[in-house]
Amino acid sequence: MGRGSFAEARLRLRLSRAIGGAIRNATVSRDGNGWHISFGVHTGREPDAPNGKPACGVDFGIAASAFVSTETEPRLMPPSLTANETERLKALEQRKARQIAYAKKHNGGKYGNRLRATIAQIAKLTTRRANRRRDFTHKLTTDLAKSHGLIGIEDLRVKSMSRSAKGTAEAPGRNVRAKAGLNRSILDNAPGERRRQLEYKARMHGSVLVAVPPFHTSQTCAACGLVDPESRKGCGRLFACTWCGHQDDADHNASVEIEARARRTGGSDINSTRSIPRVRVPAVGRRRMRSPEARPRELKGNRHPWGRGSSMDLPVDLYWRRARVDAR
Ligand SMILES: [Zn+2]
Repeated sequence: MGRGSFAEARLRLRLSRAIGGAIRNATVSRDGNGWHISFGVHTGREPDAPNGKPACGVDFGIAASAFVSTETEPRLMPPSLTANETERLKALEQRKARQIAYAKKHNGGKYGNRLRATIAQIAKLTTRRANRRRDFTHKLTTDLAKSHGLIGIEDLRVKSMSRSAKGTAEAPGRNVRAKAGLNRSILDNAPGERRRQLEYKARMHGSVLVAVPPFHTSQTCAACGLVDPESRKGCGRLFACTWCGHQDDADHNASVEIEARARRTGGSDINSTRSIPRVRVPAVGRRRMRSPEARPRELKGNRHPWGRGSSMDLPVDLYWRRARVDAR
């Protein structure tokens, strides 16, 4: 970078991709890997027509994992640094600590060139890690938008509260390792960022994004609709309905429930309505049931525990499924 005013500056640059439109602005930035210029480009691209692909619901877990209702395995973010890079990062952090201690002792806390070099090397690795995570999120959201006509996600502006509880209360096993990197990965994969990407990508690829009320998705049985914290009792991975006996991976069960809620909204596009109005949750799910016989009564009366919009189409579904359960 020269020292002149911006109008005089000349930059040599390498295009990482074709510009593909009329440049409207440019932003110069720097991170641990060097200087970058990003161009705002007017592409003139129109949103695709509805793609007619199947619907899905997505349950985003902590540490950027995602369970898609139409799939049998969760999509987990691969390790973003290789074993060698992780080793190197650890060694660099230790070196940095040593150099800081040295600087405090002998140099009045002033950073020397070697310490600066160490910090730059750390920044290079952490930037690489952040870039790979961002890449994963982008590929995930692009794939979701391209291969589905309706995508249900949780309206996370409220979910963030219950989400933290879920994260801490969950059993060990899979989440322990994930939690170690949680702080970093939340930065790169913030729920708001995933949603932002899904919003514009859904529009691009002829899909519809629906944000559904997130209440009790993890405690709601996707088969019969019963909300009961007891269904998540014991092992944190397993959902086992206390009423109908439906069993599933807890995150997959949640994704199916999210898909069902998205369908019940009639597919009103988040891009046109911005948000589905939130509903008050009746206390049904929080109350301990008295006995198995008491349950059907609470489910009756065309009321789904989470309320709005469900009274018209849900009972048919419910009755059908309950008949099947009774026949066992
Ligand atoms: Zn059930």
